[in-house]
Amino acid sequence: MISKLPNVGTTIFTVMSALAASHQAINLSQGFPDYDCSDELKAMVNEAMQQGHNQYAPMPGLPQLRNAIATKISSLYQQQVHPDSEITITPGGTYAIFTAIATCIHPGDEVIIFEPAYDSYIPNVLVNGGVPVLISLSFPGYRINWDEVRSKITPRTRMIMLNTPHNPTGSILQENDMQELEKLVDEFNLIVLSDEVYEHLVFDGAQHHSVLRYPAIFRNSFVTFSFGKVFHNTGWKMGYCVAPEHLMKEYRKVHQYLCFSVNTPMQYGLAKFLEMPSHYLELPAFYQQKRDYFLELMKGTRFTPLASQGSYFQLMKYDRISDEGDKDFAIRMTKEFGVAVIPVSAFYQDGKDDHVIRFCFAKKQATLEQAAARLQQI
Ligand code: GLN
Repeated sequence: MISKLPNVGTTIFTVMSALAASHQAINLSQGFPDYDCSDELKAMVNEAMQQGHNQYAPMPGLPQLRNAIATKISSLYQQQVHPDSEITITPGGTYAIFTAIATCIHPGDEVIIFEPAYDSYIPNVLVNGGVPVLISLSFPGYRINWDEVRSKITPRTRMIMLNTPHNPTGSILQENDMQELEKLVDEFNLIVLSDEVYEHLVFDGAQHHSVLRYPAIFRNSFVTFSFGKVFHNTGWKMGYCVAPEHLMKEYRKVHQYLCFSVNTPMQYGLAKFLEMPSHYLELPAFYQQKRDYFLELMKGTRFTPLASQGSYFQLMKYDRISDEGDKDFAIRMTKEFGVAVIPVSAFYQDGKDDHVIRFCFAKKQATLEQAAARLQQI
């Protein structure tokens, strides 16, 4: 068989988590919390199971859950989305992204992707016959140069992919980015795929500039979200996609033959959990406290932080410690110092290496303290 993805191996997250496990290292690499999700939410899911909600949910998702999401979107982003026709529940954010690409990318279509890029984006485009057009974010601020974006648009450009708050860098898009994007969408009729799985993890009072706030962009957009990332249950693989009706109609044609529908009791539980806005309104402060605590602990080390404005990731330079490449350094950190991290060059096709590593701070206070104690020895 001829591989559709000849250059793809095992994801860096799997590689680093496995290395961490085999060396009993503290795992600050793959992005997932080491604390449990809410007992209240687990009870809500259990209750749904006990009540016998164990058969297929409707293909687009449970109406109660879609209604709860529409209410949240209207209160946070002042956008009225129709729960029946504009929201689909998916098995996770990564699936939601893949399905959007599978829905609209035809062979030869060009897709603008910013690097460092989350690792699934490029393979998702390739497997659907698309052509990734890569643009580097500026270093070290990780901002978009919109003039460069404009210069890369051709008659074959079909889609532009965004991610805010951004994995792996923790940068967030600002209002002027959205204004520039709006111009391009309007001028070239681009489809926007906006990965907003860290929507509630924005710090220092900043606003999350969701595409949902901008009607002129949203009319041409798929916006993807994750429950796992924000409610500390990545293993549940629950997420959703929001898109205007004309796009969502096509999305559902693909979705219904990819997984048909998503597990039912989790949907009941999440619908109930979302009824209480405090469950998501408390998240920015919860994660900002973790970021600040981690930064405070890291002051005693020779690592240098870059700015993290959102997500649960913190980038650090290690130029005061070593001039090794970031992959070698990350492996050595895991094996010799007992803390696993992700090398940021893994998010570039050409392996661009700015000697920066990614830490996940979605960890218990004690885990962060232990990690920092080890890192102070370096
Ligand atoms: N999104 C997570 C991260 O960036 C990992 C998800 C995965 O392992 N595929 O670490």
